[in-house]
Amino acid sequence: MHAMVLNHAGSPLVWTEMPDRQPGLGEVRVQVLACGVCRTDLHVLDGELPHPKSPIIPGHEIVGRIDAVGADVTGLSIGERVGIPWLGHTCGTCPYCKAQRENLCDAPSFTGYTRDGGFATAVIADARFAFPLGQDGSDVSLAPLLCAGLIGWRSLKLALDLAGGGASGAKRLGIYGFGAAGHIVAQVARWQGREVFAFTRPGDTATQDFARRLGAVWAGGSDEMPPEPLDAAIIYATVGDLVPMALKAVRKGGRVVCAGIHMSDIPAFPYEILWEERQVLSVANLTRQDGIEFLALAPKIGIQVQTTRYPLVQANQALADLRAGRFEGAAVLVP
Ligand SMILES: [Zn+2]
Ligand SMILES: [Zn+2]
Repeated sequence: MHAMVLNHAGSPLVWTEMPDRQPGLGEVRVQVLACGVCRTDLHVLDGELPHPKSPIIPGHEIVGRIDAVGADVTGLSIGERVGIPWLGHTCGTCPYCKAQRENLCDAPSFTGYTRDGGFATAVIADARFAFPLGQDGSDVSLAPLLCAGLIGWRSLKLALDLAGGGASGAKRLGIYGFGAAGHIVAQVARWQGREVFAFTRPGDTATQDFARRLGAVWAGGSDEMPPEPLDAAIIYATVGDLVPMALKAVRKGGRVVCAGIHMSDIPAFPYEILWEERQVLSVANLTRQDGIEFLALAPKIGIQVQTTRYPLVQANQALADLRAGRFEGAAVLVP
């Protein structure tokens, strides 16, 4: 097999030939068909996340086909197309796992961070964390659903779980950072009958136009206030300054969800913008239940994923383009 390997944080990925691996107990081997590029990959590259596996093969939005099955695997077979997400393994025994909150597991492993991921021609996955994808949809357009879609779905559920108002009460949703996750969640929210307000980097009129084309009722810079108070807001950008901005934009009892795994420091802000039962919370990882729900819903919604395709060997270029905001939607690597 071949892979784009991160040998040291801060260095470019290196095209590397490695021996084929065999799936162990409860594992499958998957030939990668497509792998999305996520902002979290940049945090792994930059060494911003603690205790990574090193060297590591990044990539956690994997679409592939099973070509070998280990012992004790049930429900999956050779030739089946599957999706492999960020959550790569959970212990099943900690208090969080037992409480159906496996996204907070005490001993998890994460694809492309603490276990090898999909910037490769093949990957070994825990079979319990491989989602059957069926035949519909192209490999490239499905890949971003595995993180941008799933974490986006979880963050949307949290944003809408408003104190008092209930999900149906949340009509106006703000999305800060209109990239891979933002443009998918906007389509889900619209399908649910909500109004989407898209906030981009100030002056990024191309992305604001992109948001309007996807049905946003308003699009502007993250330094602007929306024309009406929001019921909830989700922050996908990694900029801590956006937290007080979003708090000012939500109504009494409104909720601000921070969906990134890493964020710059949040500046001090006056208590009055949190007052009146506004809430700030973060969303971490995903559960398998999130994946099952969202992957069943996505075809019904008819989500159009905007993708830019790169050959696997050009992973460094894709990551640089993501960092610089040089494309709309999501980048996807194809071996
Ligand atoms: Zn991700
Ligand atoms: Zn656990």
